[in-house]
Amino acid sequence: MDLSRRALLLGGLAAGLGGCAIAKGPSPGPESAVEHPLVIRGGRVVDPAQRFDAPADVAIQDGRVVAVGPSLRGQVVLDATDCVVAPGFIDLHSHAQTVVGNWLQAHDGVTTALELEAGAGPVAAAYAQAASVGRPLNYGYSASWAIARIEALTGPRADRSPRSVLARMGDPSWQREATSAEEDRIIGLLEAELAAGALGIGVLLGYAPGTGTNEYLRVARLAASRRVPTYTHSRALVGAGATRRDRPDGAAELVRAARETGAHMHYCHVNSTSGRSIDRVLALVDRVRREGATVTTEAYPYGAGMTGIGAAFLSPERLAEIGVRPSDIVHMPRNERVRDADELRRIRAADPGRLAIIHFLDETKPADVKVIRASLIHADTMVASDAMPLSGPGAAGAPVWPLPPGGVTHPRSAGTFGHAYRHLVGERVVSLTEFIRRASVLPARILEAATGGAARKGSLAVGADADVVVFDPAAFRDRATYEGSTQTSAGVRHLLVAGAPVIRDGALLIEARPGRPVRA
Ligand SMILES: [Zn+2]
Repeated sequence: MDLSRRALLLGGLAAGLGGCAIAKGPSPGPESAVEHPLVIRGGRVVDPAQRFDAPADVAIQDGRVVAVGPSLRGQVVLDATDCVVAPGFIDLHSHAQTVVGNWLQAHDGVTTALELEAGAGPVAAAYAQAASVGRPLNYGYSASWAIARIEALTGPRADRSPRSVLARMGDPSWQREATSAEEDRIIGLLEAELAAGALGIGVLLGYAPGTGTNEYLRVARLAASRRVPTYTHSRALVGAGATRRDRPDGAAELVRAARETGAHMHYCHVNSTSGRSIDRVLALVDRVRREGATVTTEAYPYGAGMTGIGAAFLSPERLAEIGVRPSDIVHMPRNERVRDADELRRIRAADPGRLAIIHFLDETKPADVKVIRASLIHADTMVASDAMPLSGPGAAGAPVWPLPPGGVTHPRSAGTFGHAYRHLVGERVVSLTEFIRRASVLPARILEAATGGAARKGSLAVGADADVVVFDPAAFRDRATYEGSTQTSAGVRHLLVAGAPVIRDGALLIEARPGRPVRA
């Protein structure tokens, strides 16, 4: 495309600023003579990064947006009548790093699914593995503090698969306080991972309660020196219901790291680690932000979490700290409530990597729904799923679609964005533009610190990566439930990753693997 034509199109974009509709009908300009490889036609383009909201066609070539304007011609045309055309959702927090996991998230509008909280180790191997198998969605990883710590405190491990790491989460040998030599080794391992392209440092602090605050501050200092974010699963809060006073409060510790080191501290699932203390935690976040610290937040719209049942914070002795009883825990994949502390102890000892759902709020109670909503509507909180891999049928072997019956996960793995949309936009709590900003624009801005390429994400401006979701605003909603956790969200008509359709006319293209690495 020559420069004058590009200028013309940018002019068209500018004309749409502030939400005014750009000219409708056939365009007499030279653009109408160009036939693009692919055009998304007739939708309402909502691009909050450009403050653009108007009917327009979007032309795509070589994985990029090449034109936005009226009456674009294409060799392939995807109909977007009555649909919103938006930058694809960027999920900063997805443990479902599999083709099947991507497929569930694709129906939820996600075009980029990143494992930033737990991270991967070594990241080079994780990127190589995803590239060799192929991914429907874009992928990326942070450096894993947990894996570095396990290796520094207990020796190198051959098996670093997510399943094996999950099983080791409950092993007390990596949860104790580190010596200063061990801390040095952890920092050294993380430095090497950042040099290898990691998108920051994922810190599962809440899983290793013996960790000293000093170690956490050193990790934050390292991130600050490399100008990349950390992504923290914080320690439990200390407050009402807490039985232990011999450790720091999780929220206070996280904001302290931001304040003292200058690091960008990203607060993972602030909903689940704050529970009914959400107002107190968010007020603290607001206060340190006003003081100039960089703390960002994400949330998922459910009252239950999911993790390995061996996690330190699920021991019968510690449950009260997170306001949970044994019977609030559902043992997967049998889908059975744990009866009591003794049974919990037995299951944890027998199979610590076994997944469990933890109901920390009651989604049938209006007061608890208000708590969930408070985390989601807080200023600049991003939507992030904490998607979990599938267990049971369909989880292993070659990916199969439709999924065989009997597979289970947390409904957030399939429905987070549809669920948040249904509650926030459907009930007019936030605008459509604001929802897209939280689901796509803000996550892209976080990634920019680690990788300049992310500047092309979270937008549909000319030159942007063509990661696009086209959805019916009246139909987009989640369908996954705790009983039917693999039900895909409804309403996504097309989903494009790097310019290639993954969902077309509502149908998943099971051969499509256009996902690209997002890396530093
Ligand atoms: Zn977590």
